[in-house]
Amino acid sequence: MTKARALSIKDKNAFFATEVIERRKPRADDVVIDIDYCGVCHSDLHCARGEWPGSLYPCVPGHEIIGRVVETGTDVARFKVGQRVGVGCMVDSCGVCDSCLAGLEQYCYNGNTGTYNSPDVHIGGHTFGGYSTSVVVDQRFVLSIPDTLPSDAAAPLLCAGITLFSPLKHWRAGPGKRVAIVGLGGLGHMGVKLARAMGATVVVITSSPAKAEDAFRLGAHEVLVSTSPDEMAKAARTLDLILNTVSAVHDYNAFMRLLRIDGAQVLLGIPPSELAGPHVMRMVANRLTLAASTIGGIAETQEMLDFCAQHAIVSDIEIIGASQIETAWERMVQGDVRYRFVLDTKTIGGEPSLSS
Ligand SMILES: [Zn+2]
Ligand SMILES: [Zn+2]
Repeated sequence: MTKARALSIKDKNAFFATEVIERRKPRADDVVIDIDYCGVCHSDLHCARGEWPGSLYPCVPGHEIIGRVVETGTDVARFKVGQRVGVGCMVDSCGVCDSCLAGLEQYCYNGNTGTYNSPDVHIGGHTFGGYSTSVVVDQRFVLSIPDTLPSDAAAPLLCAGITLFSPLKHWRAGPGKRVAIVGLGGLGHMGVKLARAMGATVVVITSSPAKAEDAFRLGAHEVLVSTSPDEMAKAARTLDLILNTVSAVHDYNAFMRLLRIDGAQVLLGIPPSELAGPHVMRMVANRLTLAASTIGGIAETQEMLDFCAQHAIVSDIEIIGASQIETAWERMVQGDVRYRFVLDTKTIGGEPSLSS
């Protein structure tokens, strides 16, 4: 086993502490990665603070990882020492179920292995994420980072980016389609950039009019203020697809009336408790779809990275050091980040010799 330094939380009320964690000795299919940057996702906070069921401690969050290969197992041909690579929300899946065979590892019938907070079948305990200096990952779950993408601003593509890219592709966003993004945060701002690059007409739906200027800067064609009954009424039956990134408990039904016949609203945020049921009458009368989606498969994640390189799309980020992580989390809770914090993992202190 090798050791890494990590930012770790020992229970749901604790603050971060720098700890030494163990990474497995690389097997034939493994890639050893020195981590350079890790995006800070709201899921990290929900998990570490026990806001979702099933949190395991100690918790080392982080699933928007970019780094460099420092060692490869004997069966690894696709990756070379020195190459820049990424790891997103999953590090394993069964590989044999219908979902896995279809390249939809995120929907593995046997449950995919999360980059953190999942059982670790190799060394026992549970998996530790990217708020650390290195990680060992099966090559099937390692992504290539195209040369033109910067490591820091591309890190959030591995969760926030693919979470929006996958439903945009699945529901065929493109020229002639009017696509709305609800919520302009870490997820939403990626949705605006991606939908615009796919050729759709992009509408940002936000409760704060102050975000309009940023929405246009990011690529929105129109902004709709959801707290204005007048604007909402005028926008009835004007949209083909709504990607709703809001994770708070909220009235998603209010957005269904904005959909044209055959329109779909896709829920992407995970609320702390279940939402109210759908207004079936409105859905029946307009053949509407209410759906939900999470991240994307590995092949689709690579496709997303290549698409982002082609269209020069990265996340808008603010880089933080290890000592700023608590402040960053508080600011994230307040919505005070434009639009993603990215942790410079080289600032995680301790004995430098421990970094693989
Ligand atoms: Zn995430
Ligand atoms: Zn599977």
